[in-house]
Amino acid sequence: MIKNTPTICSFCSNGCGMFVRSRGGEAIGVIPLTGHPVGEGRLCHRGWNRYQNLRSVNRIDRPRIRDGSGFKEVSWEKALQKTADRIRGLLDRYGPESIGVIGSPWLTNEDNFRLSRFCIHVLSSKNLDGSFRFAGASALTALGSAFSYPFGSLGTIPRLKECPSILVVGGDSHRDFSPVGSRIIQAFLRGSKVVLADATVARKEHFYAAHLPYTLQQLPIALAEKSDILDDVQQCLSHKGLGLVFVADQVHPASSLISLLGLLSRLSNLEDSFPEILPLSRAPNLRGAWDMEIRPDEEGLNLHEMLERDDGIKGILIFADDLLTHLPSEPLVERLKSLEFVLVADRFNTETCRIAHCVLPLPLLAESEGTMTNCEGRVQKLRSALPPPAETRSVQKILSDLSQKVGSPLPDHVDFEVRKEMSRCVPGYQQVSDESALDSLPGVLLPGEKQLSAGAVFPESASSSSKSETFTFVAIDTLYGWNRNQMILESPVLAIEYPLDPMTLCISAADARALKLRMGETVTVRSKEGEVRLPVQPNEDVPVGMILLASHWKDVLDRLAGKGSVDTLTGSVYYPALSVTVEKI
Ligand code: SF4
Repeated sequence: MIKNTPTICSFCSNGCGMFVRSRGGEAIGVIPLTGHPVGEGRLCHRGWNRYQNLRSVNRIDRPRIRDGSGFKEVSWEKALQKTADRIRGLLDRYGPESIGVIGSPWLTNEDNFRLSRFCIHVLSSKNLDGSFRFAGASALTALGSAFSYPFGSLGTIPRLKECPSILVVGGDSHRDFSPVGSRIIQAFLRGSKVVLADATVARKEHFYAAHLPYTLQQLPIALAEKSDILDDVQQCLSHKGLGLVFVADQVHPASSLISLLGLLSRLSNLEDSFPEILPLSRAPNLRGAWDMEIRPDEEGLNLHEMLERDDGIKGILIFADDLLTHLPSEPLVERLKSLEFVLVADRFNTETCRIAHCVLPLPLLAESEGTMTNCEGRVQKLRSALPPPAETRSVQKILSDLSQKVGSPLPDHVDFEVRKEMSRCVPGYQQVSDESALDSLPGVLLPGEKQLSAGAVFPESASSSSKSETFTFVAIDTLYGWNRNQMILESPVLAIEYPLDPMTLCISAADARALKLRMGETVTVRSKEGEVRLPVQPNEDVPVGMILLASHWKDVLDRLAGKGSVDTLTGSVYYPALSVTVEKI
């Protein structure tokens, strides 16, 4: 008999509604949930392939501990005792600040809430963070700074189609997040003016009224200087009903988004409320993890500081994240590998599992209950569609057992009790204890705060950088970047559709002709920090004066940009656009 379990897709921050179909405890497919406010009965190709990772053969099937250079499988009792002993050892020798805890946008709100309490109350550590420190934290910090926190819901996907004008920052906002893309097209068909800001494409789709060739970092500068921005584009952006869409993971540094929000509010003389804002993410529960305070307070270390500082941490507990793949530079990777103790609790056998001292198997999201908060600030229930394998244990059970063994037992609350506590302690989440509202199809939309904070400081945009060098080098997020979402990597069709990009530089066809370069010929690229030699791939879609490389080639970026730039507001590390020279060999 086929069972259809209503739940949400957990491949991205949109949180479309779907049924997971199963027979005899095995996933056999998915179908979209008609009437869901985000998907409206549709799924993107990732959503349609979601059931595949539920059948992955790369699951962690037993607890295991490091034994010399390899691993041996052990009982849960032994793995938890070993972990508790190592935690106690670190606490006794170096104190609570020697341990860091990593929560995850691939965990439910309830589990992130438990993890935050475990870190603070059981370990007494303030070092709590997530891999989104490097992809998402800057956007959420900027929104928290521009609006009073909690900013709740800043806009909804269905309302986007009613906006008279929309600014889309980065073409992947419409391409990779199809419910948003379809609302942008619906808005265009209703007569809305849609403006694209993207420095890395030379051509725009037909539904864009204008194309601004700027990155998010360059956009506030260009708007402030009004350089080559046409009057009618300025007019579009000054509309009171403007919609703003961007990929939160790509916002660097936080001050660029704060500047943009300040400029847009000045352009349109917004007094009462700000237009629809949708910070999209490739991670399904970025908003929820942030709201559950998976981030350090002022005294704690963020993830970058945990791994970069000499007096950083000695041990780390990582939950549901392949942290190695998210670290932006090799020195941080090496530091993680050299820690005295690494615990990984996860679902799949990842790179990070291979460097751990202890590995604990977790159930998949489709085998778990709980809630997640999507990019609109909509809290929705995730329902268990499949029975978890016998050897997995929930985060709730792991933390409860570990806290007892460490000597500070945590209350072993089930999900609805945690939601009651969340409704009391998490700003903006008062309504999540209303189970019938959570069970309804739209879920609970957090109360919105769209008024700019009275105390918000909008940094003036720095003036344009020197244009003396020949080319601008930009590291771009490609489809392969989605493979940092382990669930996508474990879905065979998506792993093929989102392939590893070759280590080649994309250059405009016009620049290639001027430099007499043909496909595959090698060039030397020089920046202030260093140089690399790479083959080129001429491409009509790349703007003149620009060379692009997929952002996952970290060692190339390390050589050209050194350690990258640190966002002073968030501690995030990123690779800014670089001025470089290009020479044919
Ligand atoms: S848009 Fe996101 S949430 Fe919706 S089906 Fe696609 S991957 Fe899933």
